Amino acid sequence: MSPAPTPVSYADFYRQSIDQPDAFWAEQAKLIDWFKPFERVCNYDNPPFARWFEGGQTNLCHNAVDRHVKERANQAALIAISTETGTEKTYTFNDLHREVQRMAASLKSLGVQKGDRVLIYMPMVADAAFAMLACARIGAIHCVVFGGFASGSLASRIDDATPKVIVSADAGSRGGKPTPYKHLLDEAIRLAKHKPDAVLLSDRQLAPMDLVAGRDHLWSELRQQHIDAQVPCEPMNSTDISYTIYTSGTTGKPKGVQRDTAGYTVALAASMQHIFGGRAGETFFATSDIGWVVGHSYIVYGPLIAGMATIMYEGLPTQGLDGQPDGGIWWSLVEKYKVTGMFSAPTAVRVLKKQDPALLKKYDLSSLRALYLAGEPLDAPTARWISEGLNVPIIDNYWQTETGWPLLTVANGVAPMASKFGSPGVPMYGYNVKLLHENTGEELTQPNEKGVVVLDGPTPPGFMQTIWKDDARFVNTYWKSIPGKLVYNTFDWGIRDEDGYYFILGRTDDVINVAGHRLGTREIEESISGHAAVAEVAVVGVADNLKGQVAMAFVVLKDARAVNDPAVSLQLEREIMKQVDGDLGAVARPARVRFVTALPKTRSGKLLRRVIQAVCEGRDAGDVTSMDDPGALQQIKDLMAS
Ligand code: ATP
Ligand code: MG
Repeated sequence: MSPAPTPVSYADFYRQSIDQPDAFWAEQAKLIDWFKPFERVCNYDNPPFARWFEGGQTNLCHNAVDRHVKERANQAALIAISTETGTEKTYTFNDLHREVQRMAASLKSLGVQKGDRVLIYMPMVADAAFAMLACARIGAIHCVVFGGFASGSLASRIDDATPKVIVSADAGSRGGKPTPYKHLLDEAIRLAKHKPDAVLLSDRQLAPMDLVAGRDHLWSELRQQHIDAQVPCEPMNSTDISYTIYTSGTTGKPKGVQRDTAGYTVALAASMQHIFGGRAGETFFATSDIGWVVGHSYIVYGPLIAGMATIMYEGLPTQGLDGQPDGGIWWSLVEKYKVTGMFSAPTAVRVLKKQDPALLKKYDLSSLRALYLAGEPLDAPTARWISEGLNVPIIDNYWQTETGWPLLTVANGVAPMASKFGSPGVPMYGYNVKLLHENTGEELTQPNEKGVVVLDGPTPPGFMQTIWKDDARFVNTYWKSIPGKLVYNTFDWGIRDEDGYYFILGRTDDVINVAGHRLGTREIEESISGHAAVAEVAVVGVADNLKGQVAMAFVVLKDARAVNDPAVSLQLEREIMKQVDGDLGAVARPARVRFVTALPKTRSGKLLRRVIQAVCEGRDAGDVTSMDDPGALQQIKDLMAS
């Protein structure tokens, strides 16, 4: 199954991927099963569209499920845990194989054919993974929409994806309270111009559901009808679409990222081996949600392709299976299921940081080899706290919904490499990463120069093919932003040090201009988060008559009481300003430091700086449908009005 590893240095491995991509990826392609061998490794005749493994045929579900049934039928494949409902269930590869076929047969009975879209609006339950794998099995294109979205966001995605069938559930649950889905779905379908033929519902018995006759079907009933179903995996052309997924919407209207079949399967298989060091038979635990790309790549597909068991977790990181507060729940799962690799986000670690550190010592975490974090900058205090607590390497990895798998990190599975605090690492194989000067577009070749992080094509397997139904937007948005150059723009700032490690300095639209000085809000945040009292911070640029823009800082303190004490907050404001003066100079000093108990974030836990900025400038906040907690924005509105 796996090619014999040749001992190489990472630098050699990387160089081969860039200089001889065909030979490199042909070798990686051996990590998966093919129904028909490919004829051409990479077709880049029509840049920037890279077509990988043309002429070949494979199937994502076959690689994730079927091929393991032979060797490891009775090994755990999917471990579904919900601290919301107090349930815990393990599906072996055999069980998973059967459930997926039941789901595939049910979808087919509702008219779904190869190439049709199936929109999945589900909480973190096993049925959601069955639905994704079933789509891949029959060649339907899944489009998973995060279960936390309300009707408006869902309706716009229904219209974009035009699904034949929607798979959903009666309810999700958060903090022990059911969050009904069905009425939101009904309302979204009413709002949408496109109407699905059918809706398939998983009934968790958490909330009542009114079924629409002729349209709505219960999964429990269809499953029973297809209990012995045998549905073969559809041979898919390499470049056939596997799924679409929307970006988080941090910077504006979400983009429908479209992915292929073979390139994605190969990329995930390779990343499980080279980056995540995952071995068949072990357990992987990614704490994200299936609504995000991490959920697609590293909850569902990646670990299963590698023959690992994957944990699918519904619930807060601070509540146990008995529904009682328990800040050690994740660590107890690491112990119980002998998790070897864990994947989370800095935002989750910051939540845990507020818990008793003794919880990290209470469990036997000796199975764990590394904790991978991604999604937003990993600040040094958070990294240090969790690395001291767990005593395993903390591996930051930088990527995007668009890329499908890490772009910058360290590939310890190729050759052990040191990590540097504050840096996600070095370019991953296949990614031809460059830094360009923001104005001239010239490539920056000297160490420690700040530039825009871009990629030269062809982009590697697993990378987005295009924006769903909108090639022009794909080319214009991502590839034509630097005059005279056809490069993929990440829209993130970075620098590269003398050792080739990159540091991400924030998004290109997070730069502010104070009296002619260009400052990254991210750098100011990093300085402020170094203050001992600070738990979290957001810095935005606010229009100012005199200076053009000034920085405003919104800080969440570790001890929330200070928020209501004017004397304490005044004192802290002074201290924080002094800290920024010392770290970055007085020019970067925020005009004000204000204290709040929460910050506006996307549903994926990312700071919504554009929304905070709009509110500070008294503008309309625009599209806030991706926002998690409207109360957080209200606090800022109130502060600005006071
Ligand atoms: P949208 O593109 O719709 O505005 P988004 O960019 O937040 O949303 P994602 O694709 O989920 O959607 O996030 C990718 C972005 O997250 C990266 O471009 C980068 O800004 C940030 N990011 C991800 N991982 C890291 C990391 N390890 N360090 C720093 N930033 C990161
Ligand atoms: Mg983005």
